[in-house]
Amino acid sequence: MSGSPTPLLSVRSLGKVFTVREGFTTRHVHAVNDVSFDLQRGEVVALVGESGSGKSTIARLIARLMPPTAGQVLFDGGDALAGRRAPLSYRSRVQMIFQDPFGSLNPVHDIRHHLERPLLRHGKVAGRAAAGARVEELLDTVGLSPGARFAKQHPHQLSGGQRQRVAIARALAVEPQLILADEPTSMLDVSIRVDILNLLRQLKQDRGIAYLYITHDLASARYFADRTMVLYAGHVVEAAPSSELMDEPAHPYTRLLLSAVPDPSGWTGDAAATPATAKQVDPGPGCPFAERCAQAIDRCRQQLPQLEEIGAQRAARCFLLGK
Ligand code: ADP
Ligand code: MG
Repeated sequence: MSGSPTPLLSVRSLGKVFTVREGFTTRHVHAVNDVSFDLQRGEVVALVGESGSGKSTIARLIARLMPPTAGQVLFDGGDALAGRRAPLSYRSRVQMIFQDPFGSLNPVHDIRHHLERPLLRHGKVAGRAAAGARVEELLDTVGLSPGARFAKQHPHQLSGGQRQRVAIARALAVEPQLILADEPTSMLDVSIRVDILNLLRQLKQDRGIAYLYITHDLASARYFADRTMVLYAGHVVEAAPSSELMDEPAHPYTRLLLSAVPDPSGWTGDAAATPATAKQVDPGPGCPFAERCAQAIDRCRQQLPQLEEIGAQRAARCFLLGK
């Protein structure tokens, strides 16, 4: 299309079905169903949904940690899934931050080692001496100052928040354009969650980094993300600019999630209550949310509604919209 810039990331009809064998039976877990969205440079899109809704699977598919069963991922207009393994260039442009920073750091090595490795591996610095200076600079950037002191420490000597800052510095080392942040604050103390989100936001402003921000907490999505997509049982059920989604939720599931958030405009780092897990195993026809929906009609149990445009940049998947 002329006039509109090529999105940084374009996810098209992405699907993942896990085949799980239990004794003599084989089950199909429909973890991700026909998910499509674009992400522009420097944009933050939140992916919100309860545990098991397919959020991490979407991030892992984009990061090429596993192959999809359907769909395409385009990065900067090119096929991001081509080839058997992701090329080094893709892995430097797309980085992932996980929920548990301790799990992704090796207790044997100091922080310097963790940051030097990607710098050298991706050719971001000319040699060891340059790497040392860059490590300290990166640590200062993520608020671990003086960098020289933090570089000498080991993961167990740091707090959870400091470890997550190290994980962010490690992602930054390779100068990514996109960070897939999978519940980056959910294992941290409530009091420091906002600080970590503020750091990510600062990096977006200073470096134009785009984020796919995964959370089960709508209020933090409003705080950080330009747009929010709500996922239920692997289906996008609603997508909208974050403030509109929270002010005028269109889908009954979005309304249910919002009812668990005391005050989404005044988010201070509290996690919202997470409702029970949805069924995705060998799903039948119909809307996956029908069994929990107070407004469900017969049609909802027989047929899956399409994701329909309901306004500028707004879409929802429900037969009862406007009713
Ligand atoms: P979320 O991140 O939203 O909590 P996940 O993407 O981790 O959800 O999981 C989505 C669904 O896929 C869940 O039902 C989960 O049990 C299933 N799933 C995830 N990974 C695997 C796997 N490797 N094998 C089988 N099922 C999986
Ligand atoms: Mg997850």
